[in-house]
Amino acid sequence: MQEGKCAYCETERQLCNSHAIPHSVFKKIHRAASGQALTLDTSGNPPALSNESGADLLLCECCEAQMNTRFDAYGYNWMNCARKHLSSIPSPRRSIPVDPTRMAQFIASVLWRCSISSSKTYRGFSLPPAEVNLFLSAIAKGADPFITMSFSIKDIFDGNDHYSQKQLETFIFPPIGYDGSIERTQLRLYTMSMMGFHLAVTSPRLPYAIRSKPSHLLRKSKHIFIRKTDFRKIPSYGKYIEAGSLSLFPHV
Ligand SMILES: [Zn+2]
Repeated sequence: MQEGKCAYCETERQLCNSHAIPHSVFKKIHRAASGQALTLDTSGNPPALSNESGADLLLCECCEAQMNTRFDAYGYNWMNCARKHLSSIPSPRRSIPVDPTRMAQFIASVLWRCSISSSKTYRGFSLPPAEVNLFLSAIAKGADPFITMSFSIKDIFDGNDHYSQKQLETFIFPPIGYDGSIERTQLRLYTMSMMGFHLAVTSPRLPYAIRSKPSHLLRKSKHIFIRKTDFRKIPSYGKYIEAGSLSLFPHV
């Protein structure tokens, strides 16, 4: 342990080796792929197999424990259960129970931790200064993350049938942020993929007509209808596919 300023409570304390994308997600992949997983790096370096799990000295023991219990335990368990549900529910009835606030806060907290981590897994990703407080206020205790942001969860598949569902579950795409528009609404988007799910945040929040569509978390809805999305059509994944680098997928 090393002394430093905790990124969450801002007090000088011993810091833990904190994960941004939960360690449990990496452990699951490493277990399935002999200790090595492909992590794509958004700064343009060629992807490679590694046993990296994206940790950095970020939080004091107390804040680390809080992140693990408030966010990571729920997010990881939800994704694990959702995978099992999705493989057993015939399409198109792919509605899954969810605690929308907890899942939204899990996604926001992972993005915030990735943005401050100096782990090479997340190099190239940061939040604009104006957005940092937005993320912090969304994950505060008792906060309502849906006031300022919208959240979506999709199930990725390979439209070219080259990669199986199992292989896509071993794919971690670290976060990227970009300006974009959805149905003519200008916004900032943050996306990442893990465990076969594409998780996205938009700020400001989307108009109701858009955020009430399938695959969006809604504050008052205890279910989410998970849509499938061809991962080849997700912006920014394309360059890796074109470079042929996804052939590095671990065999599972
Ligand atoms: Zn702290």
